[in-house]
Amino acid sequence: MISLIFPTYNEEGNLAELHRQLREATASIEGQLFEFIFVDDCSSDRTPEILRQLHEQDERVKIIRFARNCGSHAAISAGLNECRGAGAVVLAADLQDPPEIIGQLINEWKAGGKIVWGLRAGREGESFLTKALANLYYRVMNWLTIVKMPPKGADVFLADRVAIDAFKQFSEKYTSIFMTFAWLGFPQRNVEYVKAARYRGESKWTWGKKFKLALDSLLSFSDIPVRYMSVLGFITALLGFAYALFVFWKYVFFGVPVQGWSSLIIAILVVGGVQMTMLGVLGEYLWRTFEESRKRPVYVVEYKID
Ligand code: UDP
Ligand code: MG
Repeated sequence: MISLIFPTYNEEGNLAELHRQLREATASIEGQLFEFIFVDDCSSDRTPEILRQLHEQDERVKIIRFARNCGSHAAISAGLNECRGAGAVVLAADLQDPPEIIGQLINEWKAGGKIVWGLRAGREGESFLTKALANLYYRVMNWLTIVKMPPKGADVFLADRVAIDAFKQFSEKYTSIFMTFAWLGFPQRNVEYVKAARYRGESKWTWGKKFKLALDSLLSFSDIPVRYMSVLGFITALLGFAYALFVFWKYVFFGVPVQGWSSLIIAILVVGGVQMTMLGVLGEYLWRTFEESRKRPVYVVEYKID
């Protein structure tokens, strides 16, 4: 059996059409059983009712409902923790990742891939800024972190049971699931697809959430910020020292009196600014350490229907 996992948040307009397309796409894959796990991330629209109806029509539809909105990565974790398939595919519930890709992913899985990425060969209905920033995110992550992600990014993947079981050992909260899977190793393969525009409704990935994910990804897979704090501090100190020597030299050899309210202020501002930034970086690590040490659950389940 293959588990299809859908993080779902306020997708009332998409679910019926998604289910129709899923029925078609899975019927064309012969000899393969499926379960459809919808993880309802505490939707406030008619999503829960629609999911119950789908469950009544189709016993393959299973529901996990969160008691609070925990974010799509938490929803994906819940799906992966609960799924029973020999492999699982993670797809968005807004039809941006067309269900036809499931067949392609399964073929590469059968050919030996333990993790199969659906790479975005193109994106429809997305603004230039969104695309540019997404590309920047993947570039910066590949450059600064120990994980290599597909350069154009992936929103869809298939994971074999061995990779799912390996993933289940992780209990981190402040991280990116996609980067965790990329980090795991295993034979990884790719298929390409064009990411469609949203079928109905609005994207829930606000700029704030995207920024938080970028910071989480960076801090959980790179030590560069905390490492280079001391390098930056050292360089600043060196510059200050060089300037002091320069002033001293001018005074001794040319009799130029030590002057300059401006240079004083500049020095104070630069040093102060650098220190504040570094405190901020330390704070980010400290906050994450504190949060992880409280061992709060990644998500809270209200009910499960299967
Ligand atoms: N999603 C979720 N919880 C959230 C936000 C989004 O489960 O807090 C789901 C959403 O229903 C969708 C998927 O995550 O199935 C991707 O979200 P969205 O389409 O809003 O993001 P985008 O495609 O714009 O990146
Ligand atoms: Mg979407």
